[in-house]
Amino acid sequence: LITNVKKPHREKTRAVEARLFRAKIAPESNSSAESELRKNISKDMFKRMEILGQFNLGFIIAKLDNDLFIIDQHASDEKYNFEDQQRNTTIRSQRLIVPQKLELTAANEAILMDNVDIFRKNGFEFEIDANAEAMRKVKLVSLPMSKNWTFGVGDIEELIFMLSDSPGIMCRPSRVRKMFASRACRMSIMVGTALDQAQMKKIVCHMGEIQHPWNCPHGRPTMRHLVNLGMLPSSDCH
Ligand code: ZN
Ligand code: ZN
Repeated sequence: LITNVKKPHREKTRAVEARLFRAKIAPESNSSAESELRKNISKDMFKRMEILGQFNLGFIIAKLDNDLFIIDQHASDEKYNFEDQQRNTTIRSQRLIVPQKLELTAANEAILMDNVDIFRKNGFEFEIDANAEAMRKVKLVSLPMSKNWTFGVGDIEELIFMLSDSPGIMCRPSRVRKMFASRACRMSIMVGTALDQAQMKKIVCHMGEIQHPWNCPHGRPTMRHLVNLGMLPSSDCH
């Protein structure tokens, strides 16, 4: 009796499991592919993935239970390095010769003063006179410094706008984000690089530490479901 009950149950589980991933690997299916991955792959699963090998010197083939996945080695390494910079980099800043007055509303000035640490991490420093009258409390004294990028008041205004929505939450102006994305691109494993088992394992494990693992900072997909082995016809059918 027990075997009779067990067998159909196992069949059913397998069929359900096979249907977790249905999206095609194609640009027009990107959003459905991504939502399937988000729903079915939790961060701890990456550690359990078995590395089967490298494909075309650009992709890692990994196996989890019955499912095979293809992972873009550059895109996923790039996203890991990008998020690391977003979190941890304090941008160097350069002092202005003369402190610069800012044309801020009283409300925006208050937002800036409440979040000076976030501005400092982005390379902006201010001279603050709490006793001055509203709209005259803050002067810009340092700007972010980087070889290929220049920053200015527009970036401060963008940060104030972001912080008015989520005060105290670490954020970056979009131009800093772009700078980190291009740095991350240059420092990440390139397509065309042969990888050994340990390097592939490391990239896949790192995916479990990425907050938003499904796209690189330029929007390119990092991983797709290839096939469920349970869906392949077994050889004893023939
Ligand atoms: Zn890149
Ligand atoms: Zn990219």
